[in-house]
Amino acid sequence: MAKSHTDQYLENNRQYAAGQALHKPAYPGMQPIQPSKRVAVVACMDARLDVEDLLGLQTGDAHIIRNAGGVVSDDAIRCLIISHHLLNTNEIIVIHHTRCGMLAFSDDLLKAGLEGDPAAEKLLGQATKRAFTSCRRCASTPSAFHAFRGQLEPLDGPRDAKQMERLSWDVRRGMSSILNHPWIPTSGADAVTVRGFIYDVDTGKLEEVSYPGPMGSIG
Ligand SMILES: [Zn+2]
Repeated sequence: MAKSHTDQYLENNRQYAAGQALHKPAYPGMQPIQPSKRVAVVACMDARLDVEDLLGLQTGDAHIIRNAGGVVSDDAIRCLIISHHLLNTNEIIVIHHTRCGMLAFSDDLLKAGLEGDPAAEKLLGQATKRAFTSCRRCASTPSAFHAFRGQLEPLDGPRDAKQMERLSWDVRRGMSSILNHPWIPTSGADAVTVRGFIYDVDTGKLEEVSYPGPMGSIG
């Protein structure tokens, strides 16, 4: 089978982790609106992830959809549908990463803290080492924060087996959301492929998450 662009980006990542800069930051001149490598990436907004650099993407190669966690949320699905059906992408890459902030809180805890629950405010203040200030009740709130499932960890806690299990679980959940969406074709001439990874912020390396794979004790 021919090497996919994702395979090429994995090779680029090995070079990146070894210290090479592959992304060219210069303006490349006018380019078509369709991503030239037909790739769409969903990745966490974490400041330590430079998605262009860590994959060796060049300007014009790929769509990059970022949010807290790299979660395949309703909005990420919206972007992927537009990316595929209108702009011709057919390879999707989902990237979570070690030490992610989404491991350190739960949706219920953050909501309680924002609504002024003193115990939640205290816990969030301790977890984040900043004064957590409640905003009280509000009519316009996100329907979900999509914090990762499983037992909470300290903010920026180092990688361990439990952390990798929680991250892998959410990568697989996201891949499943894409693969099972009726408006994202996964067979036939118009099919997209999906692969998921965990980026280790301590090493700069991507590790692939098997799919399907064990959902473990989480869920
Ligand atoms: Zn993150």
